[in-house]
Amino acid sequence: MSKIVMKFGGSSVATTEKIQHIATRINHEKVNGNDVVVVVSAMGKTTDNLLGLAMELSENPTKREMDTLLSTGEQITMALLAIQLNEIGFDTVSLTGWQANLQTDNVHRNARIENLDATRILDLLAENKIVVVAGFQGVSGEGDITTLGRGGSDTTAVAIAAAIEADICDIYTDVDGIYTSDPRFVQNARKLEQLEYDEMLELANLGAGVLHPRAVEFAKNYKIPLRVRSSYNEDVGTILKEEVDVENNLVVRGVAFEADIVRLTIEYEVPFNGSLASIFTTLAANHINVDIIVQSIVDGKKPTVSFSIKKESLAEAITVLESNKEALGFIFADFEVGLAKVSIVGSGMVSNPGVAAQMFDRLRKENIPVKMVSTSEIKVSVVVPQNDMIPAANALHDEFDLALV
Ligand code: ASP
Ligand code: MG
Repeated sequence: MSKIVMKFGGSSVATTEKIQHIATRINHEKVNGNDVVVVVSAMGKTTDNLLGLAMELSENPTKREMDTLLSTGEQITMALLAIQLNEIGFDTVSLTGWQANLQTDNVHRNARIENLDATRILDLLAENKIVVVAGFQGVSGEGDITTLGRGGSDTTAVAIAAAIEADICDIYTDVDGIYTSDPRFVQNARKLEQLEYDEMLELANLGAGVLHPRAVEFAKNYKIPLRVRSSYNEDVGTILKEEVDVENNLVVRGVAFEADIVRLTIEYEVPFNGSLASIFTTLAANHINVDIIVQSIVDGKKPTVSFSIKKESLAEAITVLESNKEALGFIFADFEVGLAKVSIVGSGMVSNPGVAAQMFDRLRKENIPVKMVSTSEIKVSVVVPQNDMIPAANALHDEFDLALV
């Protein structure tokens, strides 16, 4: 007998028929003798629709009220699923985030889990009940409802898995696993049997939308075996673990990409100590997320710093920079829109020099200009013109033999 957490995403619970369908999958795990906790997302596009309703009333609703509003989506699903499971004969109890004692900080709309006292869930399991928990939500120290950021139900599932010491956490979705790249845009993208937490973390942060990055972080920290699989077939999906058995000797295991990147460049009259720190402190204080940073200080030239941000932050970034122009001491700021980021990820890069060189060489052959570069031990990202994003992803997928098994 195992303890398992099953998480179902919005598309898997979009209608009552789909809820009936997943109930049979839950039923299957339960009759096999497992203790089952289910975590659910809001039905279909519910979260987006709720956001839309709020926007009809206000351009800038308070984050506290938005959390109160958005958390209702998951609450509907949890109750409907519990009704269905009770209907087919399984004693089931649904819990909201706060009923499940999922405590977070008070950063509304993007709260972090601080503590999860699993006593109530464990007591219910001991009574042989199925427990259905609403994903994406918790309660702050002030007693207010919080949400964990878009896609945050994954994180609820992994946090519960850690707290109850589950044997596995299964993320059920509408794709049958993690792919080498997004199969909608990259021909020959292939499903991976296994992937390392660190690789998935990079991919999730680099735009692969399958899993919430914090869920992967949690799974890694608590060594929770995490599986991504389809709600609609029996495929085993992709399993995430610390180190993968050598499926093949690929150095690169995935290609991720993200559109709508902007590059800002700032020029100084004279370099002065701390200018870099003050710019980024000012941007951070205004919650502007900066990604790649390139500073260039060359004798005889005016110093510059370029950095990339998401397009949605551009207007705010410019306002912040302009209104702090004097304090920050820069003379000139410019930006370039219409850019995208393409990244290759693989833990084998640590011990294989030349991966970046091979990437640049292939992009050169494809006539794709590289505007910025950033690397970590297990990834290389380039910023390219947005029109070149999909061609670059396909070329790199091919260059690093990702279609092969
Ligand atoms: N319903 C929330 C969202 O759409 C959370 C989730 O589905 O994970 O972002
Ligand atoms: Mg999701």
